[in-house]
Amino acid sequence: MSTGPAFDVKEQIKRAVDIVDLVGESVPLRREGRAYKGLCPWHDDSRPSLHVNPERQTFRCFVCNIGGDIFTFVEKRENVTFREALVILAERAGVPLALGRPGGASAEESDERRKLFQAAAWAEQQFHDCLLKAAEAEPARRYLRARGISDESILRYHLGFAPNEWDWLLKRARAASISPATLEKIGLLRPRPQGPARCRPWRRHGRRRADGRPRAAGARR
Ligand SMILES: [Zn+2]
Repeated sequence: MSTGPAFDVKEQIKRAVDIVDLVGESVPLRREGRAYKGLCPWHDDSRPSLHVNPERQTFRCFVCNIGGDIFTFVEKRENVTFREALVILAERAGVPLALGRPGGASAEESDERRKLFQAAAWAEQQFHDCLLKAAEAEPARRYLRARGISDESILRYHLGFAPNEWDWLLKRARAASISPATLEKIGLLRPRPQGPARCRPWRRHGRRRADGRPRAAGARR
């Protein structure tokens, strides 16, 4: 049995992150006996086939034959490598990872990543609030209603609306002390060779990451 540092970190993270909470953030789960069940996100499921075992801290879909622990779940759900899943879950669990190893990030890089994730989360919230409340988003709300997209789905998938004003996000970013350079790095601001920078229109259709954070466009290297 391995007792090296990687093993310890993995075990620490496993102790800190409950698989029912983790899976439950992206898949609504219902308790049935000792297990939790939900609709499998990897196939067109109606039964529900995704089973989560809180005692063994495992999940499995018997139709897709996919299963494993919290790390496997994040790998599959976010389509990332084991190493990336480890980083995501370590951050969530507050377990420090040894730095400087191949594939690992330096403390500076981690700070930068955190800053980008926070900015992406902030921007997502701006677009989401805009879709929910702003007068200029009324045509978008009508459009979604006409397409049969319920308010519940707007909330659940955190859909957003970007008004057709190039500096809409930029003005808000200034007020929130988020620099144009940060917006550029997460792909929300496009530098122009001449003239002022332009905000890129943005509509979110994706789900949140397994750790509850939005995906930061362009933040992944
Ligand atoms: Zn499945």
